[in-house]
Amino acid sequence: MAAVLAVGALGAVIGSFLNVVVYRVPRGLSVARPRSACGSCATTIRWYDNIPLVSWLVLRGRCRDCAAPIAVRYPLVELGTAVLLGVVAWRFLPDAFAATAAPGVVAGILQLVAYLYLAAISVALAVIDVETQRLPNPIVLPAYIVGLAMLGAAAVLAGDRTVAFREEPDRPVRGSASRRAAPAAADLEPAAAERFEALRAWRAGEAKAQGVPAYIVFGDATLRQVAVTQPQSLGDLDGITGIGAKKREAYGEALIRVVAGA
Ligand SMILES: [Zn+2]
Repeated sequence: MAAVLAVGALGAVIGSFLNVVVYRVPRGLSVARPRSACGSCATTIRWYDNIPLVSWLVLRGRCRDCAAPIAVRYPLVELGTAVLLGVVAWRFLPDAFAATAAPGVVAGILQLVAYLYLAAISVALAVIDVETQRLPNPIVLPAYIVGLAMLGAAAVLAGDRTVAFREEPDRPVRGSASRRAAPAAADLEPAAAERFEALRAWRAGEAKAQGVPAYIVFGDATLRQVAVTQPQSLGDLDGITGIGAKKREAYGEALIRVVAGA
């Protein structure tokens, strides 16, 4: 929880930078320099008047020098970024902590940083879009490369070979080694869990024989349903997610046989 709050606080600082990005990038200005100045009197903003959220509240939304109003958008972007990044950390930090082996930890951290980055630029892009109806390429294009590189590296480190660019409702989307090491059989009845494991073993053989990833044969969610419903006939397979007419024809008999044998 402390880590989540720390990321939230970092989010406020990043939000402060995003305010600079939102103003300068659409105008083709550098985000690095010059330092921020009051839009009315052009006085450079002192560091203690530039503390996210706090300074706006202390100054009551007015410039210290000329008392010109400072748009409420500034603290709102800072607050919004703080909340958003806090939520991302709350969701993805446990993945990083849950990993036991070094590659899994690195994968979890890479994944977290990638989502923090994508969340942060989403804030900037959203505000710029509202103000200018544009999404500047200097922000959009690096996101493809950085996001892809970090998430790709995270997937490789986590040993996630099921990464695909198409919809696969059953594939494990977030890869932490520990999560995959413990398949979703823990909450099944012992007998159903046994059937589930038998189905997975059968699937592994089938995938190997065909030279395709296991999820191409069936996803875990589908095998779970088969394990729980214990189909006796092909008709019993109707209504199980992930088994269409083709798969029923190709694998239906085998599924029933494996379930009966387990
Ligand atoms: Zn001023």
